[in-house]
Amino acid sequence: MAAPPSGASLALLEKLVAALNAKGLVSETEIAERQAITDRASPEIGARMVARAWTDPDYYALLMKDGKAAAEAMGASMAGAPELGVLENTPKQHHLVVCTLCSCYPRALLGYPPGWYKSFAYRSRAVREPRAVLAEWGTQLPDDVEIRVVDSTADYRWMVLPMRPRGTEGWSAEKLAGIVTRDALVGVAVPQIS
Ligand code: FE
Repeated sequence: MAAPPSGASLALLEKLVAALNAKGLVSETEIAERQAITDRASPEIGARMVARAWTDPDYYALLMKDGKAAAEAMGASMAGAPELGVLENTPKQHHLVVCTLCSCYPRALLGYPPGWYKSFAYRSRAVREPRAVLAEWGTQLPDDVEIRVVDSTADYRWMVLPMRPRGTEGWSAEKLAGIVTRDALVGVAVPQIS
């Protein structure tokens, strides 16, 4: 659950909802339904998608072609959600997702974005100095790996398909899902085996 808004921001939010309601643009029921979908969403679903893509070539093909369909196949409720694009990391290219404008994030799939994702520091520094930001997360990439920073927008949300770590040969999809963290789905971290 996200922290509830408080004080002035709550009053503003209530006024906004009342205004949208009065104009017939969105009902309180629709807002409650959307909130319930985000409450049910979780990085664990994204982790299971990654693990299945690592172990099931047909699912990998679906994931790269249609992220929303791949998310729904794993139980996420994506109706009405923006498009979901999947960025595949390779030995030569690493992806980092940011919303430079505000806090666009694949909420229907991964739930609420973490506080740092919404911070001005992350939104600006991810673009200017992505390698330094990654290093602060303990993510050291070889110099010859290109870091591609991708902007999430109102229409298009992104998740990263990390590389499967060496040493996980023969692991079940369930065990693999256990090493895929939310931060790896955003691209600030990579899956680690301990
Ligand atoms: Fe945004």
